[in-house]
Amino acid sequence: MIVLDLSCDQEHRFEAWFASNDTFDAQLKAGLVSCPHCGSGQINRLPSAPYVQTSSHSAPAKPDPQAIAARLVEALRAAASKSEDVGERFADEARRIHYGKAEERPIRGKANHDDMIELIEEGIPVLPVPPDKDDLH
Ligand SMILES: [Zn+2]
Repeated sequence: MIVLDLSCDQEHRFEAWFASNDTFDAQLKAGLVSCPHCGSGQINRLPSAPYVQTSSHSAPAKPDPQAIAARLVEALRAAASKSEDVGERFADEARRIHYGKAEERPIRGKANHDDMIELIEEGIPVLPVPPDKDDLH
């Protein structure tokens, strides 16, 4: 797709999208191009160079670290929400699963800092999940 700067005989300037220059020429000859402001079919192409459309009309946005972090948190919460909430029993349950004494399944729950460290040192993968926004009120 290309976008062309056009103007009519009333000097209304506007942009229009075309598949290619050839398409524009063909549509202009066929009288299919008209001014959106006054409807005039007397269209001139302005000398500005057409540019090729990329994925976005505007310049690509720079990655926003906060947005990326927010997305990660959302992903963690989504994963956590599919797990079984074992509450205060989290550390015990994580051990039981790790040592094959309980059914293997994703769990979530509350663990204090020491529990987390112990679990990690025992080789049990645990991931801190930020509290829900609701919990912060
Ligand atoms: Zn016009």
